[in-house]
Amino acid sequence: APGLYFVATPIGTARDITLRALDILASADVLAAEDTRTLRRLMDIHGIALEGRPMVAYHDHNGAQARPKLLAALAAGKSVAYASEAGTPLIADPGYTLGREASEAGMMVTAAPGASALLAALAVGGLATDAFFFAGFAPNAKGARRAFLAALREVPGTLVFYESPKRVHRMLEDALDTYGNRAAVVARELTKKFEDVRRGTLSDLVSTLEGETLKGEIVVLIARGDAQVFDESDMQLLLKDALKTSSVKDAVAS
Ligand code: SAM
Repeated sequence: APGLYFVATPIGTARDITLRALDILASADVLAAEDTRTLRRLMDIHGIALEGRPMVAYHDHNGAQARPKLLAALAAGKSVAYASEAGTPLIADPGYTLGREASEAGMMVTAAPGASALLAALAVGGLATDAFFFAGFAPNAKGARRAFLAALREVPGTLVFYESPKRVHRMLEDALDTYGNRAAVVARELTKKFEDVRRGTLSDLVSTLEGETLKGEIVVLIARGDAQVFDESDMQLLLKDALKTSSVKDAVAS
């Protein structure tokens, strides 16, 4: 059917892609990719031929020029499949403006969901998953990074960050200063050959990563602060208080 299809691709292991995503890649009229070589390689692995279909680059640096062409293809009744470099498009990846403009123009916008590093990290990390906050990449400059981390102090859920191996140590140091010694996880190379998940407190992780040059792709998880823990017993206490207050009020009113 005509419309824009956001197709999730693997974050490592090539077979982490859904059957429906492969069907869409095999049948879309137009293919668009953050990195056309990466998508071609993935299609090759899964035996999907281009068969004369156009493949268009769409990334942060050419979005403004490429977007009108993709929107025109949609307006002409074509189906357009978009895949970012890895994982789910729009998640720390391009696609947001394209999707918004396509839906504003009345086009069908749908997703072929699949891998995302943030969910894989939450699944293996061992920190609370009932509520989490995806913060993306922290700023590079120290002052901005500290302000960014401080603004997340009260979030009542696990904090999820993407981070580069070069900066992860500094980021963990700033997190330790900002949050105190919370539990944290450094999840590296998920689904790949050298998958490596380190769990500990922020200070454990700061000291184990001291002087170690990590390679590869990294997700950092940081536990919420004790004051932000909202478990069922908290809930019951609150409810009891609320009931007490309302019955007192009712009694006063009657
Ligand atoms: N769209 C992707 C997603 O859905 O996860 C994220 C794209 S973002 C530009 C790339 C960042 O995601 C990396 O720098 C790293 O922080 C994280 N990442 C991607 N693949 C990963 C993997 N296999 N293991 C750990 N982190 C990964």
